[in-house]
Amino acid sequence: MKERRLQFLRPEEIIEERRKNALIFLPVGPLEWHGPHLPLGVDPLRAEAAALYLARRLGGLVLPTLFIGTERERSPEMLRSIGFSGAEYIVGMDFPANSLASLYFREETLAVVMRDFLEMLVEKWLFEKIVIVNGHGGENHLAVLVRLQKEFNARKCCRVLMVMPTLNYPRGAWSHATMEETATLMALYPSTVKLEALPSPKKKLANVGWAIVDDLTFRGRPTADHTVRRKEDPRLAKKDAGRRLWTETLQQLVSFLRKELNGEK
Ligand SMILES: [Zn+2]
Repeated sequence: MKERRLQFLRPEEIIEERRKNALIFLPVGPLEWHGPHLPLGVDPLRAEAAALYLARRLGGLVLPTLFIGTERERSPEMLRSIGFSGAEYIVGMDFPANSLASLYFREETLAVVMRDFLEMLVEKWLFEKIVIVNGHGGENHLAVLVRLQKEFNARKCCRVLMVMPTLNYPRGAWSHATMEETATLMALYPSTVKLEALPSPKKKLANVGWAIVDDLTFRGRPTADHTVRRKEDPRLAKKDAGRRLWTETLQQLVSFLRKELNGEK
């Protein structure tokens, strides 16, 4: 298979591919706590795998993954939905019970790095279509990417698009470290997942204790005891289901991008 990872290509190969299709993918996501059962790189690793798949299907090249992302303090309403009192100062998924902090960059750092990348890709390398493949759903993280997307698109120099490797993007789910991410990691990097690091499935998973949070809780509709819903329980994740889910997710992204980039129906 043809190499799509830009860091392995010589100048002439990059120019040749750009002539065929001036499309480039930029995978991004932070090293972030995803429960004791998943590696820190869930978001960027999923973004990277998605970007490589998309480039193989649609053409274009893939930049080295940026292991950066940002978060900010949670609102009292969100904290209460998760199961806290609402008065705590908690940034992103860094809940007090976690054994290791996430490496969230400052919001302004993410913005500066992303802007420099976009500028260079457009001005120095003359790419016309840039797809940010983003693995992380932090609200201010998304806001930075969407702001840059709008700004670059308004210049009429190029097309910048953000996609996320989640089922039914852009509607998508907002869950964190639940079944979707766990099952896809089992499919992509089986050796990195350790379900035994979580308590037995008979016990419910408290959001506060594990920093594992389902979609409806993030949307302000928690369960009465602020635990992860069974249908999103990461302990019930299966590798085969993960593979099917991942394939479906990527196929949806291919049709989404075909429409967005080429106006195809
Ligand atoms: Zn994640």
